[in-house]
Amino acid sequence: MLSRRLFLASGAGAMASGCALLPERRAPAFAKPAPIAALKLTADQLIRITVCTRPFRPSGPRLETEKIGDKLIVHNYGHGGSGWSLSWGCAEEATALALAPAPHSIAVIGAGVMGLTTALRLVETGVPVTIYAKEFPMETRSAKATGAWSPSSRIGLASAVDSGFAGRWERWARASYAAHLRYVGAVGEPVEFSPQYALFDEPRTPSTPPEHDFLRLGRRVRDMTPRWGEAPPGTHPFPVARARTGETMSFNVATYADRLTRDFLLRGGRMARRHFPDRAAVAALPEPVIVNCSGYGAKALWEDDSLAPVRGQINWLAPQRTARYKLYYRNVSVLSRRDGVVVQYVGPNDDWGYGDDSETPDREEMEMALAAVAPLFES
Ligand SMILES: Cc1cc2nc3c(=O)[nH]c(=O)nc-3n(C[C@H](O)[C@H](O)[C@H](O)COP(=O)(O)OP(=O)(O)OC[C@H]3O[C@@H](n4cnc5c(N)ncnc54)[C@H](O)[C@@H]3O)c2cc1C
Repeated sequence: MLSRRLFLASGAGAMASGCALLPERRAPAFAKPAPIAALKLTADQLIRITVCTRPFRPSGPRLETEKIGDKLIVHNYGHGGSGWSLSWGCAEEATALALAPAPHSIAVIGAGVMGLTTALRLVETGVPVTIYAKEFPMETRSAKATGAWSPSSRIGLASAVDSGFAGRWERWARASYAAHLRYVGAVGEPVEFSPQYALFDEPRTPSTPPEHDFLRLGRRVRDMTPRWGEAPPGTHPFPVARARTGETMSFNVATYADRLTRDFLLRGGRMARRHFPDRAAVAALPEPVIVNCSGYGAKALWEDDSLAPVRGQINWLAPQRTARYKLYYRNVSVLSRRDGVVVQYVGPNDDWGYGDDSETPDREEMEMALAAVAPLFES
């Protein structure tokens, strides 16, 4: 005897009820790709140039405690080119270290992405938290980041990290990715997914290996992110020999920083503008536990000479609402975000900007970046 479910699925139900069976369907029409809007990547769209130094430590971020007199200092700085990406995972680890002595209040130095995420995690536990910072969120170096999911970008040197580093990094990356996902679809789209195209000429320019042995850990978390694949000719408009494409996570930094600040203040957190000339001034704060999220500022504040600057310049073009995607072509990265189109010359390898602490805009670099991607949209 046929069950009711099998009877309906077999079509016998349709015949019995007098309905005609649907004719066999052809493949759906959406096999053809939707057209991709062109980006205007010309100097007349330029609205500003920002430059900042990535806080790079060859041995990886500093996430550990130190005692100064009766104060417990928890360090959480030195995240290279991965601070936005790894923020939540590191914030969780710093939070556990800061809460261990069950303090009555906690100070956080810094209002960049590490300070904001750490302070937010702490205040959510019910403990009173004050952020002290020389620069507030949109004035920090964090506000000058590309805004890409890049958890292993300049995070350490293979020859300088300890044997447990890769495992710790993986925990930070997984926890962070899960936390970022909670902001997808939130008001103002602090975190969103958009298509990315990596475009190549033929013959390919031979790659120049970097002088420094930067860690490449991305493979460890490949299972978390959407897959990439070849984009055959005809499926994209770019005049190049080869294209790869996939969906990628990006951060609308202005909205994200604003959201983190509001969440922190709404939960009762406090913010005070303060410059600390040295560690003695930090230790003089009234809070018994102090989390140091001073980023590249730790080089002067904590006299951490292992911090190396890695300069990065962003050329900002006016936002282009109809074209939202990311491109990589001829050593230039382009990310069309809600708060502007980020165009960045990234150099032949990760050595680009290493050891350079100049935060002065370089117009020639901007012109070189725009000239490199201009052929993509000439027609
Ligand atoms: C060009 C560029 C592109 C980048 N792109 C990406 C990206 O796409 N994805 C990604 O994940 N990461 C990216 N990064 C890396 C990321 O921006 C950093 O890792 C991150 O911003 C570090 O955050 P932070 O909070 O530690 O430091 P900061 O943002 O520098 O914040 C430090 C805070 O400490 C305060 N402070 C410092 N010293 C003192 C003092 N003495 N007294 C009082 N306050 C002090 C500052 O005022 C500030 O509030 C990029 C970096 C650069 C430069």
